[in-house]
Amino acid sequence: MPDIETTCVQCKEMFLFTEKEQEMFYQRNMPPPQRCPKCRSKKAAIGEDAPKRFEIVCDNCGKHDQVPFQPKVGRTVLCRECHEASRSRARYA
Ligand SMILES: [Zn+2]
Ligand SMILES: [Zn+2]
Repeated sequence: MPDIETTCVQCKEMFLFTEKEQEMFYQRNMPPPQRCPKCRSKKAAIGEDAPKRFEIVCDNCGKHDQVPFQPKVGRTVLCRECHEASRSRARYA
């Protein structure tokens, strides 16, 4: 397969989707990249791919915290400290 010239959707610059990369992408069953390597690494650098965080208010102490999951409505949400505390309480009960 020849190298493919692709236009980056972000900076509109042309970049090469090389034969080697194509192979790698097809092997992993991934769609062809839409961004040039520069923008791709920039995206990774600003942490856009980092896991989402949800803002919560602890039901126990009222502290604001962030959790890596979507809290369910109507369920008790705890900040990290209270969560740890309730966990160790359960363990030693
Ligand atoms: Zn780009
Ligand atoms: Zn708390």
